[in-house]
Amino acid sequence: MRNKLVEFKHVSFRYGDDQPWVLKDCSFCIYENEWVAIIGHNGSGKSTIAKLMNGLLFPQEGEIYINGQLVNDTSIWNIRKDVGMVFQNPDNQFVGTTVQDDVAFGMENRGFAREDMLKRIEQCLHAVGMEAYRLTEPHRLSGGQKQRVAIASVLAISPKILILDEATSMLDPKGRQEILSTVADVQQQHALSLITITHDLNEVTQSERVIVMNEGEVWNEATPRDIFKEKTALRKIGLDVPFVALLTDELREQHIQIDNEPLN
Ligand code: ADP
Repeated sequence: MRNKLVEFKHVSFRYGDDQPWVLKDCSFCIYENEWVAIIGHNGSGKSTIAKLMNGLLFPQEGEIYINGQLVNDTSIWNIRKDVGMVFQNPDNQFVGTTVQDDVAFGMENRGFAREDMLKRIEQCLHAVGMEAYRLTEPHRLSGGQKQRVAIASVLAISPKILILDEATSMLDPKGRQEILSTVADVQQQHALSLITITHDLNEVTQSERVIVMNEGEVWNEATPRDIFKEKTALRKIGLDVPFVALLTDELREQHIQIDNEPLN
């Protein structure tokens, strides 16, 4: 049985006493070394979930546990060591004047030894295929390269959980696919729990499990293949089933063998 790294227990949240509830009685778990995609239309509460996971926000009702620790005022500094986050706009995440400085920044804040830092910078840039850009200024990189560096910077602090919040949504389809396969490799190499947050069902096909959010509630959680069976219901909550899933279904119905199974 795998350890629970994230546990939401009956979590409800609103941005103020006079505001509507944006999360309503949400319960789910994410296990160690698991890739979970959280999907839902815009405004369904996904980013709020990400912010609750690293203590940027606290729920008014229910409890959140990260790696067994209750998220509260006193635990957040410990919890933030376990949770690495990469956001939508890579330009907002750079602080260094070179790629290498940028990866070093988080480690400096956490008091890593200098020799350790140099080794880790190299390892983490290698993991995302950016070792040739160590001395490049971040603003000279393409969108996809910037996101790779942002992922390397987060990896450098050895998180147990890596959260990508719409981290591919500013990239073209090729760039998106590259980032997703990079994080899938990184997840395997570093034995991380990977949480990818997206509004695009194309991006969930390779995850192990999908949590579907709708209007602040957990609408369903299952494998991508089982989620895609609910085509009509998904459309009703604003999610379009990707072409690859429709095609896979069609081929299966006609008993045509598929060599590289595109869905988990
Ligand atoms: P998603 O990531 O699925 O698009 P969010 O978690 O960003 O959804 O937002 C959920 C709801 O909370 C939306 O209705 C949004 O307008 C509202 N919301 C998000 N951030 C704030 C905020 N800082 N203040 C007030 N309402 C907010």
